[in-house]
Amino acid sequence: MSDLEKEVRPSNFIRNIIDTDLESGKHTQVQTRFPPEPNGYLHIGHAKSICLNFGIAQDYKGLCNLRFDDTNPEKEDIDFVNSIQEDVKWLGFEWAGEVRYSSNYFDALYGYAIELINKGLAYVDFLSPDEMREYRGTLTEPGKESPYRNTTPEENLALFEKMKNGEFKEGECCLRAKIDMASSFMVMRDPVIYRVKFAHHHQTGDKWCIYPMYDFTHCISDAIENITHSLCTLEFQDNRRLYDWVLDNISIEARPHQYEFSRLNLEYTMMSKRKLSALVTEGHVDGWDDPRMPTIAGLRRRGYTPGSIVEFCKRIGVTKMENMVEMPMLEACIREDLNENAPRAMAVLDPIKLVIENFDGDTEILNVKNHPNKEEMGTREMPFGREILIDAADFREEGNKKYKRLVLGKEVRLRGAYVIKAERCDKDADGNVTTIYCTYDKETLGKNPSDGRKVKGVIHWVAAETAVAAEFRVYNKLFNVANPNGLELTEALNPESLVVKHGVIEPSLVNAEASKAYQFEREGYYCADSKDFTKDKPVFNLTVALRESF
Ligand code: ATP
Ligand code: MG
Repeated sequence: MSDLEKEVRPSNFIRNIIDTDLESGKHTQVQTRFPPEPNGYLHIGHAKSICLNFGIAQDYKGLCNLRFDDTNPEKEDIDFVNSIQEDVKWLGFEWAGEVRYSSNYFDALYGYAIELINKGLAYVDFLSPDEMREYRGTLTEPGKESPYRNTTPEENLALFEKMKNGEFKEGECCLRAKIDMASSFMVMRDPVIYRVKFAHHHQTGDKWCIYPMYDFTHCISDAIENITHSLCTLEFQDNRRLYDWVLDNISIEARPHQYEFSRLNLEYTMMSKRKLSALVTEGHVDGWDDPRMPTIAGLRRRGYTPGSIVEFCKRIGVTKMENMVEMPMLEACIREDLNENAPRAMAVLDPIKLVIENFDGDTEILNVKNHPNKEEMGTREMPFGREILIDAADFREEGNKKYKRLVLGKEVRLRGAYVIKAERCDKDADGNVTTIYCTYDKETLGKNPSDGRKVKGVIHWVAAETAVAAEFRVYNKLFNVANPNGLELTEALNPESLVVKHGVIEPSLVNAEASKAYQFEREGYYCADSKDFTKDKPVFNLTVALRESF
């Protein structure tokens, strides 16, 4: 690797370890894996792990596998298997070869369990779950040995065979590794490695009624796939002892190593799939891809780009320090991307009628720039006429110095069109303005007034005749508290996380592509909703506000 290449790459402690391993010749090629459990949709925390694992493979010309860690058939689902693949691809990554499943290795895992039994390193235990808990001891007290611990390999082989053949009930017995009931690491106190579960599996059907546990499965799957660096989050730090113990005690050549990094936590949201799943099943959100969800599918529906998420993962970095990332970090990434790349368009969320009294003749077609400083993004046609709609907040009968919008007797520019002057207005019985009457200066299309009058304010608008009614879904943070993790969902949810507004859009927007954000001038970045948008009933999601809102 050249020095220049090294410089532009992100640097972190894991990459430093890899550099050392490559320099010392311990490895010649890096092999990583991303191992999701298919029990939910991927979230932004997974994106951190994806960018780390696939990013390392890319930068070191190595390989990264996608492996479903599918040892809990009851919680898993083929829909999740499919959505996860879609999300990884959408983020722009390619896994090496076929998709893999831990369940591909169930036969091999069974063989290694037999090997441990033969070596006197595993036994079938009949303690009840309650007894097992009691025997395990505590952080300050050593555990007690199970009375089944010192049975012979022959007995255990026969019992394990019976387990496999469905001769025991769920919870009646399990296979445990024989390690150390007094270990200061709880995971080493004879951990369960196989349990009985009469469950249909999305990959293996009804072939098995015993399923291996995560700790036994993960290290062996890594070794089978010749993974060199097995990267996981910090809560697995203690489990590394077990990871190493299993590999040390079975006859498998490859020797992957586990390294831990801190999870991504993001303010005002949560990452636990269990809790995200509860949001969906309890109906607090419109599915896993609700635009308020921190899922990849939710962010995509919200109008986030893959590039903005990858950039976010780059900015947060990879360390061993637990921390809480602020939402504006994420928002800045999409805002910067869209400011640069999103076409501009006009939508009025709270429309009020404005009549240009000196406009006569037919509707005029104006060519309006799609981006203020990107000629190559071209122009679009916007009808302009005698009646237009502006946002109610953009007009006041009386203004002040700070108010740069339309005020009675004053001038303002309509973006991409003319300078207008407010002459008078109508009001309803409650005193609300219903119609504004203006005049316009015909000589100001694309130029300043010829007599040197200074017009500072610019407002957005849509021609009334051709305006299309649209729904706007304005999203706010999903939770009211920065760290909702310890709270009940209902305690922490923000009742105003979705505010629906009804307004109008310029006609070109009926052709908006799903999930591709526009900058609605002065309103924010919005994209067509991928589920509910139709040409007859356009629905737009707020992707992100124009400015930091938190
Ligand atoms: P959850 O608790 O949300 O269910 P998990 O860790 O059980 O998360 P997995 O599907 O097992 O979810 O995760 C796949 C990979 O993604 C693992 O390597 C895991 O460490 C990583 N991962 C999960 N959540 C985060 C996060 N918040 N930040 C970084 N990496 C994460
Ligand atoms: Mg998990």
